[in-house]
Amino acid sequence: GGADIECDMMVLGGGPGGYSAAFRSADLGLDTVVVERFATLGGVCLNVGCIPSKALLHNAAVIDEVKHLAANGIRFGDPEIDIDGLRGYKENVIAKLTTGLAGMAKARKVRVVRGIGRFIDPHHIEVELTDGPGKAVTGEKRVVRFKQAIIAAGSRVVKLPFIPDDPRIVDSTGALELKAVPQKMLIIGGGIIGLEMGTVYSTLGARLDVVEMMDGLMQGADRDLVKVWEKMNVHRFDRIMLKTRTVGVEPREDGIWVSFEGEQAPEGPQRYDLVLVAAGRAPNGKLIGAENAGVTVSERGFIPVDKQMRTNVPHIFAIGDLVGQPMLAHKAVHEAHVAAEVAAGHKAFFDARVIPGVAYTDPEVAWVGMTEEEARAQGVKLEKSVFPWAASGRAIANGRDEGFTKLLFDAQTHRIVGGGIVGTHAGDMIGEICLAIEMGCDHEDIGKTIHPHPTLGESIGMSAEVFGGVCTDLP
Ligand code: FAD
Repeated sequence: GGADIECDMMVLGGGPGGYSAAFRSADLGLDTVVVERFATLGGVCLNVGCIPSKALLHNAAVIDEVKHLAANGIRFGDPEIDIDGLRGYKENVIAKLTTGLAGMAKARKVRVVRGIGRFIDPHHIEVELTDGPGKAVTGEKRVVRFKQAIIAAGSRVVKLPFIPDDPRIVDSTGALELKAVPQKMLIIGGGIIGLEMGTVYSTLGARLDVVEMMDGLMQGADRDLVKVWEKMNVHRFDRIMLKTRTVGVEPREDGIWVSFEGEQAPEGPQRYDLVLVAAGRAPNGKLIGAENAGVTVSERGFIPVDKQMRTNVPHIFAIGDLVGQPMLAHKAVHEAHVAAEVAAGHKAFFDARVIPGVAYTDPEVAWVGMTEEEARAQGVKLEKSVFPWAASGRAIANGRDEGFTKLLFDAQTHRIVGGGIVGTHAGDMIGEICLAIEMGCDHEDIGKTIHPHPTLGESIGMSAEVFGGVCTDLP
């Protein structure tokens, strides 16, 4: 059939997976087209995810830090918060990055076709062109013919069926719009996204409740790490409701009234000024006409792939949130590079041993590889090595010595298999533990590496040195 645009490589979706795949494909000599429905590249992560949340969290952390200074003899007045100014700052951060991406695409001669893509057959996709800041369709269509494709259409917020439409009920995208600071806010879902947004709103003045079906917040991280976060954050919450479900949400003039059921449910409905629904994300696999290309999509909307990121159709790859958990930007980028390299004829495959997770709360919680919980479940014997930050000169000087660093070693081989850090800047430090796991380091490799003093990062070397124990000596 006829095509308006011809290319070697068509990438569907311009998020961290999609733009990384497109850039690598172009760098490897493939003539590349990206199909993206929104005006900017960057996807969820840059536009309504990782980056705007961190722009707000940075400001929140500075406000909290300044409050802490009172204990050191330095007092400022209460912060004066201009919410329009803060929102503007966040928008500027996004604009800097999306403009940068547009330039990077141009430099590589990656063509961006702006519109909603749907596969017609294994070599053609139809794009309904969009316009304006959102995704308003223009009525015009283009057909792109491709030799190979990478599907990177990402994920979307899960909508709970019993939750009505009301401007006072938002998802993470709505919360990032930062329209106003509520007095009382409910977070439905105690995962990273909900707790990060809660941190921002609470620092700006909101009181929080959180409801979570499981028996703990921040599922996936070891409980000893989360406990420290909890101790430092209880002051933000009126209620932390675990093993509890939200069963009714009723908008009234005076607020959103929410009823709960479960172990820690309060009696009767509770009133909130803002409700944030952060109960997970769903893959977009079923919304792209994948069946027309013969690409298999699971019941839940995930696209199964092999270690080379190939779908069941050998010249069509899939990456990022829509191939499975964990739905994280750094996983999407890594998979993107594998897919593009394989498409360009290289012998690449997905071989990462571990994918780190970070909650950019205050303090931050970061973990990677095997957790103690998993080791117990699998019957793996570990040597746990811990360095409490109460012994860190730098953490004490910072006035933030509540955290700790722990490393988990295989009891037989003494090689590192996992680790976790809770404390300020934990997310910036976890990369060293990732590298150690990828390199197959044992406790001596890490412990005998000279770390700079005094840093929070030396806590990683210190915990390796006390292999199997707890270090209480000052470094
Ligand atoms: P996406 O980023 O979802 O991009 C998919 C793109 O495809 C979108 O731009 C979409 O418009 C486009 N698209 C979809 N269908 C079509 C179609 N039919 N036609 C045209 N275009 C289409 N991850 C981290 O690692 N660190 C964090 O700190 C972090 N914070 C987050 C905070 C929030 C509030 C949220 C919501 C997420 C956060 N994430 C974070 C997760 C991260 O955003 C995702 O893992 C990442 O964006 C996935 O990248 P992706 O390329 O797979 O998909």
